[in-house]
Amino acid sequence: MTTASPSTTAPLQLTFGEKLWALARNYWWSWHPEVQVIFYELNPQRWRELDQNPVLLLSEYSPEQLEQRGREAVLYSRVNYAYRRWQEYMESARTDSWGAENVGVLGHRPVAYFSAEFGIHESLPNYSGGLGVLAGDHLKSASDLGIPLVAIGLFYHEGYFSQLIDETGWQQEVYSHVKNEQLPIRLVKNAEGETVFVRVDTRQGPMFAQAWQVDVGRVKLYLLDVNIEQNSPEDRKLTARLYGGDQRTRIRQEIVLGLGGARLLTALGYDPHVLHMNEGHSAFAPLEFIRMRMHDDHLSFDEALKDVARMCCFTTHTPVAAGHDRFDYGLIDEHLGPIADDLGIGSGGIMGMGRLDPNNQHEAFCMTVLAFKCSRTANGVSNLHGVVSRRMWAGLWPWRSEEEVPIGHVTNGVHVGSWLAWPMQQLYNRVLPTAWATNQADPKTWEPLNELSPGELWETHEALKTNLIAFARYRLIRRAKRLKLPEAEIQALANILNPEALTIGFARRFAPYKRADLVLRDLDFFRKIIADSKRPVQFLFAGKSHPADNGGKTILRNIYNLTQEPDFKGKVVLLEDYDINLAKYLVSGVDVWLNNPRRPLEASGTSGQKVVLNGGLNCSILDGWWAEAYDGTNGFAIGSGRAHANQEIQDERDAKAVMKTLLEEVIPLYYERDNDDLPQAWIARMMRSIITLSPKFNSDRMVMDYVTSGYVPAAGGVICQMKR
Ligand SMILES: *Cc1c(COP(=O)(O)O)cnc(C)c1O
Repeated sequence: MTTASPSTTAPLQLTFGEKLWALARNYWWSWHPEVQVIFYELNPQRWRELDQNPVLLLSEYSPEQLEQRGREAVLYSRVNYAYRRWQEYMESARTDSWGAENVGVLGHRPVAYFSAEFGIHESLPNYSGGLGVLAGDHLKSASDLGIPLVAIGLFYHEGYFSQLIDETGWQQEVYSHVKNEQLPIRLVKNAEGETVFVRVDTRQGPMFAQAWQVDVGRVKLYLLDVNIEQNSPEDRKLTARLYGGDQRTRIRQEIVLGLGGARLLTALGYDPHVLHMNEGHSAFAPLEFIRMRMHDDHLSFDEALKDVARMCCFTTHTPVAAGHDRFDYGLIDEHLGPIADDLGIGSGGIMGMGRLDPNNQHEAFCMTVLAFKCSRTANGVSNLHGVVSRRMWAGLWPWRSEEEVPIGHVTNGVHVGSWLAWPMQQLYNRVLPTAWATNQADPKTWEPLNELSPGELWETHEALKTNLIAFARYRLIRRAKRLKLPEAEIQALANILNPEALTIGFARRFAPYKRADLVLRDLDFFRKIIADSKRPVQFLFAGKSHPADNGGKTILRNIYNLTQEPDFKGKVVLLEDYDINLAKYLVSGVDVWLNNPRRPLEASGTSGQKVVLNGGLNCSILDGWWAEAYDGTNGFAIGSGRAHANQEIQDERDAKAVMKTLLEEVIPLYYERDNDDLPQAWIARMMRSIITLSPKFNSDRMVMDYVTSGYVPAAGGVICQMKR
């Protein structure tokens, strides 16, 4: 970390404006609040209106205006300082990082990380939920740790949808065309300045893709784009939307991601040492590496498969059988036929690689099965999910007992720089050692937080809560104006929600298994909690439902309808368009984060980990990460972690358990105040939560685990067993 003073002048070659543009073009700024503040101060109102997109903001200024504004707002020395820190960061990867000491075996050959979605910042709509945000956090931590890693994804022209809730509470999906020139991305060209294209063959003819480069700190992310004139009008729409379209769209997206991605790496001169498949969407990638190995080294298919599997790591995320992509023979032959012929195994051979039983003609092809068969190490994303995955996929290793199935786990974590709110970060900076951000995975790093004064921690938390409430009002008013609601109603929205009340947040995708409406099952009970004026409680809900999921949309509408009833109005609110931006306000402002999935369907969950960093408390079913996090003192557990074969019984039991935990534990503890009106026992629990959970559930620790248990062995280094 640099100690240079902000007043010294930076290299003179670049002007103030050029430095700002350079900073804007690398998403490094998105996890450095001191840089965000510069963009903010350039024009606070436009910054918010443009959804914190610095490229858009800077585009509104001519170079002269930018220099002028820099002088007015006295930003010159701060920009110089930020620019130099960024330069130092970019250059120190090989000398001054965890990676420099621990990934020597990778040499100059990087890890290639494949994912169908990446959630880096709200300005780049390349994610639908947790999987994407996790991939984004993975890249940021790999960058911070100095891991040589290059990432491959797809460029979606319309991204995932923006959600509007109409007057009746029904979800409307709005797709807007992503404007490339408004993003910090650039078209990938070769040394001669020509656009690089990759080709993927199908039985019906070839498809082509170009690629966009996104800089995420030191990590380069390449997004493949098929919307180019070489392709048929139909194919040009193939990557318009994330998870849109039918099975045929899906497999075509996946050959572009896997086969096209592998070819792009080769075209750009990368010779990866390790392939990491984040979920099964990219499972075709190893096939292209096998093809290359057979061609270059004159190996047989079996020899090449063995060679390539040695370098592959696979992370599965889905404990629901229906959540895994499956294709029939027709689709496989059409799309994998050409490469199957090259590999000498034919489409029948490819089908076999995607089946539990290769010879079972009735079994569909499954991407997850292919990924397992091509990988040296495989993992679930929490301890419990590891157990569930071993049970789920035991059929792949029929000669092994369940606990011998070679699927381990690496529990998910979140990127601290991205998810720890700036005011809380400044508070931590006062008591933590200066280099704390580079030692997050060490429990000792966080221990000095014990010295924080409870009053200060509480005040900072309360300030963040006020921030959340102000943002919620702003969003609700924006919606009300759009719907042209009566002026009186808009006025009322300016005062809803009480900054003193116990504030409970629930926000995530509205997949039915997440049971957003569990607290509404016993409505009389819920009404009683909300009606208590001595111990006020309020709820904020948010989340998108998949466009095809009417069950999820109905849950959303039920919650919306409730927010309109007199008993709940102003105390239970539903915020539209849950994205990374709204998530940042929610996870840093709530007192309690509620999570009540149907166990064991939440593979990990990560939003609660973001809450931990900011001092909020988790109140959750013992599922996913919480099953290994909760120790009786660092949050609240709902129920005892039992599941029931009968879903209705399980839901009924869990609904009772949520109410019991809220009524008997959460609410009384929150309202137990000392003479200064401080909830001392509550604050002690906040402290326990931050100190015991932050070192474990951050993405630096996660990436370090992947390095030691996955990447290093895959690159031929010392083999450590994947944790069980
Ligand atoms: C963190 C995050 C998620 C994932 O949350 P879960 O707890 O895994 O449901 C989803 N969406 C957004 C916008 C997020 O920031």
